[in-house]
Amino acid sequence: MSGLRFQVVGEAFKKNACPVEAPEGPSSAYFGKYTFGKEQMAKYLSKDTIKKVNDVIKNGKPLDRSIAEHVAAGMKQWAMELGATHYTHWFQPLTEGTAEKHDSFIEYAGAPGEGVIEEFSGKLLAQQEPDASSFPNGGLRNTFEARGYSAWDPTSPAFIVDDTLCIPTIFISYTGESLDYKAPLLKALSAVDKAAVDVCNYFDTNVKKVYSYLGWEQEYFLVDEGLYAARPDLLLTGRSLLGHESAKNQQLEDHYFGSIPERVQSFMKEVEFEAYKYGIPCKTRHNEVAPNQFELAPIFGETNLANDQNLMIMSIMKRIARKHGFRVLLHEKPFAGINGSGKHNNWSLGTDTGVGLLTPGKTPEENLQFVTFMVNILMAVYKNNAMLKASVMTAQNAHRLGANEAPPAIISAFLGTQLSEMLDKIESSSSEEGIVLDAKKKMQLGIGSIPEVLVDNTDRNRTSPFAFTGNRFEFRAVGSSANCASAMIAINTAVAAQLKEFKAAVDSKIAAGTAKEKAIFEVIKEYIKISKPIRFDGNGYSDAWKAEAAKRGLDCETSVPVIYDAYTTPQSVELFTKTGVFTEKELIARNEVKWDTYTKKIQIEARVLGDLIQSNIIPVAIKYQSMLLDNAKKMADIFGVEKAKELAAETMKRIEDISKHVSVLESSVDAMVEARKVANKIESEKDKAVAYHDNILPYFETIRYHADKLELLVDDEMWPLPKYRELLFIR
Ligand code: ADP
Ligand code: MG
Repeated sequence: MSGLRFQVVGEAFKKNACPVEAPEGPSSAYFGKYTFGKEQMAKYLSKDTIKKVNDVIKNGKPLDRSIAEHVAAGMKQWAMELGATHYTHWFQPLTEGTAEKHDSFIEYAGAPGEGVIEEFSGKLLAQQEPDASSFPNGGLRNTFEARGYSAWDPTSPAFIVDDTLCIPTIFISYTGESLDYKAPLLKALSAVDKAAVDVCNYFDTNVKKVYSYLGWEQEYFLVDEGLYAARPDLLLTGRSLLGHESAKNQQLEDHYFGSIPERVQSFMKEVEFEAYKYGIPCKTRHNEVAPNQFELAPIFGETNLANDQNLMIMSIMKRIARKHGFRVLLHEKPFAGINGSGKHNNWSLGTDTGVGLLTPGKTPEENLQFVTFMVNILMAVYKNNAMLKASVMTAQNAHRLGANEAPPAIISAFLGTQLSEMLDKIESSSSEEGIVLDAKKKMQLGIGSIPEVLVDNTDRNRTSPFAFTGNRFEFRAVGSSANCASAMIAINTAVAAQLKEFKAAVDSKIAAGTAKEKAIFEVIKEYIKISKPIRFDGNGYSDAWKAEAAKRGLDCETSVPVIYDAYTTPQSVELFTKTGVFTEKELIARNEVKWDTYTKKIQIEARVLGDLIQSNIIPVAIKYQSMLLDNAKKMADIFGVEKAKELAAETMKRIEDISKHVSVLESSVDAMVEARKVANKIESEKDKAVAYHDNILPYFETIRYHADKLELLVDDEMWPLPKYRELLFIR
């Protein structure tokens, strides 16, 4: 009998909600208390320093050393008053999550041994050299020049976790190549800012800056920690590699928006208290579609800051979950047969004059601006649909996109009927109809007014990977464990390049004597025509769409390692180099890292799966089979062989079935090990990843099928792994 499983199930059942102490006062009283934000700067920095820091933040002015010195002094004082003894540069290497190396503030006051003082200089704030030779770099640094620098990002506030002052930084190689997500994200944001300001100035010359906004929705599963510990697959890979579907899962749709279970509610509360301390404006929390699946979303913010906050919340969730006897699963598909987890990236652009560029306007000028941005985004998504897909693709997310029980891995854009009709109307109108100047030379836009709320809830298409939702696009293909920066780099860069191209086209028409509005209208019209194949309002989950998308020339590749090639096509290289976001060398290196990561993920899963089959599943199946054989033998002793055969026909069949399943498992695991040996010899990172995808991954399905059959056959009391019904319904 499997002791561990029954023990952990029993214990999990008895657990009560963990009490949570609310911080004093309303949320606003402690919001951002642990970040070095505006309020803290006002208290700890001089007016002059604040002005200079704001210049760096708002206007991208270079950072001068003397400011760093002043900021460091103020930050140190603030941090020490909150109990900090250490500091760290907090950065986002190309692995998952974030990295940090803590140093204490202490230095010898004088000669060694003569007492210590706390020190934190501008130099330490501005730059650090983590010994980072073992972070993935795709060959950008040989080990003998293993130096990588982390450099302060003043646009995201420093924060304190426990006793440590964390300073958000970029991470670059000695020769300046990005080794992280933040450095290229900042470049992409700057590129889209510049390109969008230029286009905005056609409509309003007061616009000096355009912000990219991100509002992420973090989906996740919670599993009791005891059950989690008894599942080596969850523990080591973040997802269940085995497990027969539970008789009940999400069919009744009774979990979605249902009342939040008590233990979970108390976890969520504490996560929010923590989030508020760090200035993360958590807004909504609710159950998701699948049992034990939940979601948390803040109010959107500037993309770089919002992304840092998402990385922080993921680590806060992990930490708090432990306190509540849970483990949080951020994997994109922890359980087969039920919904996976995404991280919808709500994305928009807005001006420093307070105008949302994806918000339909009230005047014809505003509407022309809205349509301009809308159509340029469609163009950008159309031209770069393969690269955008690559930006969200990982071994984990492949289970959500392009796999069994998942929508096809194809990027398309959903606009809704009203907006689609409007674009169709523009496309078919002559520019005379489109732009009319009245007697006072005031512009009239012949496309009618756009209702303020374009897309109501009933018109929401939940199957689109990139959907317009009234004032923003929702990039839904992003995975729950991802660093949003990857998707945000891709979309912002693509749109930046597109806007530049648009401006060049309009300017040349203006230079040839066409009136500005007319020139804009003509280019838009042409773009609407070209980008049409990316627009799709139908059911994105259907097979019909797969065929249709292929006909339209959209990228339909499903193999993750091959999808990454979209980053290094001549078109993508031009896109990223022209905008200054990546050099070709960086693109190549980052793909090397992606292939390597892919290989390792599948490799680990294959090993865990093989181990589970060989040391958990097969032994239990055989033990149970022996019991059946024993029973059959005893029947034969008592009733005689012929009579026993008749009486125990079902038992005999069960014995045979177990043998068949065990034999397929044995041969499949052996074959998978052999395939791995072959793949491991391959030199090229890409070819190795392709081999893992083509030759190893397919065994998973066969193995799982037979193991899950055994789960149904074998005595429940003997089954060693917590079952789906236990993982999904105990909370
Ligand atoms: P739903 O689940 O209906 O899509 P949520 O309220 O859960 O909506 O999440 C919507 C997210 O989009 C929130 O983070 C919200 O702040 C964000 N959001 C709203 N407007 C914008 C915008 N203009 N730009 C970017 N994000 C936005
Ligand atoms: Mg959403």
